[in-house]
Amino acid sequence: MFGLMQDRPLLISSLIEHAAAFHPHAEIVSRTVEGPIHRCTYADIRRRAMQVANAMQTLGVRPGDRVGTLAWNGYRHMELYFGVSGMGAVLHTINPRLFPEQIEYIANHAEDQYIFFDVSFTALIEKLAPRMKSVKAFIAMTDRANMPTADIPGLICYEDLIGREPVEYAWPEFDERAASSLCYTSGTTGNPKGVLYSHRSSVLHAFLACSVDGLGLAAAESALVVVPMFHVNAWGMPYAGAMCGAKLVLPGPAMDGKSLYELIRDEGVTLALGVPTVWQMLLQHAERNATDPKRELVLRRVVIGGSSAPRSMCEAFETLMGAFVVHAWGMTEMSPIGTICNLLPKHKRASLEQRLDLQVKQGRGVYGVELKLTDEDGNRLPHDGTTAGHLKVRGPWIANAYFHDDGGSILDDECFFDTGDIATIDLDGYMHITDRAKDVIKSGGEWISSIDLENAAVGMPGVAEAAVIGIAHPKWQERPLLIIVRKPDCPLINKDDVLQYLESQVARWWLPDDVVFIEEMPHTATGKLQKMALRQMFRDYRFPA
Ligand code: ADP
Repeated sequence: MFGLMQDRPLLISSLIEHAAAFHPHAEIVSRTVEGPIHRCTYADIRRRAMQVANAMQTLGVRPGDRVGTLAWNGYRHMELYFGVSGMGAVLHTINPRLFPEQIEYIANHAEDQYIFFDVSFTALIEKLAPRMKSVKAFIAMTDRANMPTADIPGLICYEDLIGREPVEYAWPEFDERAASSLCYTSGTTGNPKGVLYSHRSSVLHAFLACSVDGLGLAAAESALVVVPMFHVNAWGMPYAGAMCGAKLVLPGPAMDGKSLYELIRDEGVTLALGVPTVWQMLLQHAERNATDPKRELVLRRVVIGGSSAPRSMCEAFETLMGAFVVHAWGMTEMSPIGTICNLLPKHKRASLEQRLDLQVKQGRGVYGVELKLTDEDGNRLPHDGTTAGHLKVRGPWIANAYFHDDGGSILDDECFFDTGDIATIDLDGYMHITDRAKDVIKSGGEWISSIDLENAAVGMPGVAEAAVIGIAHPKWQERPLLIIVRKPDCPLINKDDVLQYLESQVARWWLPDDVVFIEEMPHTATGKLQKMALRQMFRDYRFPA
């Protein structure tokens, strides 16, 4: 017997309709590529998204067609989020930090019909346009006055394109399982693979972002979205923002500490979301330049994900800015949120030290994401806080397969997806990532967590960034090599200082066999340490005898 409830499809268009009806004046503040701050409202976004939808039809875009973007976080990008997906086409957000060959590959693989780009990527588009075979025209996301002069076939001006379209549009109703957006993984090995989100998965994920024990996004928040709209839909913030009417602050291309600090201060930001490398720059700026961040800012929570949040960073946000770090974990294949580190009633009276011990964990499972740990053979392992295993996930916003079925079946016999991460889960359900499976250091039959070692090292004054890789060892199979980028303007640290510092932080047998210093760390297109590049860099390295 079926229930007798209305079967309304969960469509992305319904989010912007709701926002415009109930939060018409809530603001979207963008730092533009051209420089100035731009302000608009959800009502404006809806109106212009409808013009985008009309323009899509004029251009002959049909439901299911892919429309690419190469753009920073800004209001025009947000209009495309709702306009393109709302009319039934698939918004393919492209990460401009990928190698040009990868961008060319994914635009062709996705068979993008049109590509919208911020003018800062004009040279890139000019270079790649002849090789993007399916693209009929390129649209510069600017007005006539700021149009670039470039040799791009079929170059269109965004404001011209949508300006001539009506501001009314009837959003079509269709199956909520229809594809809404497409994002490719960074492809550290092999070609990038496409993750194809649906309307249903995006709306369900937005409910999570708006729930109190989720990210707690709400109408009362002013949220700085530093996580890029070109990767995993900026952790779903444009959708979640519309769902609850939160003010969204979009930083455009300016990700330096000063620009972000000013936005946080001037826009009354209460919640900020980003990866550790960005927060590193913000904290450095605040430490050096701000007079009294705690008084100047009303920042209450900082969500950190994408890479592990070091303890020293959690502490710095708290002491310097009075902001609580909410550690979260997920991946492109998971829309991306999988776990969130919020506190339980039993932690109410925890000391700062005890709380930080907890905050460095990636958090508890949320409703909608089932977690399991397994051994190499797929047998379940206990959630006892010490047994580390392969972390696998299942849920309605987790990928079933890659676009065009690249890689074939990606689920195990219980329909769980292998995240490639190694983790423990404690008795309270807090999950802790110890490593990527391919990065763990296997020393004498035991595993050393490269992430825990790195986080311990960045807690040392004078260390800006740290990475640990395994180096072959005749006796122990592998031993850790610690690679450090020194902080500028700090007393010079050497190998002995570092080892001495680490002695009080980690087990003796974890101590790296050597410490080397480099000028700059290689990062992936999403700001993670690029271990592959480091392993390449140190392929001939041998430990000192
Ligand atoms: P990419 O951007 O490189 O394609 P994702 O953005 O999907 O990949 O990254 C997912 C991976 O990032 C996870 O599997 C995990 O290894 C890592 N990751 C994400 N959040 C965290 C976190 N809070 N702590 C540690 N690792 C994390």
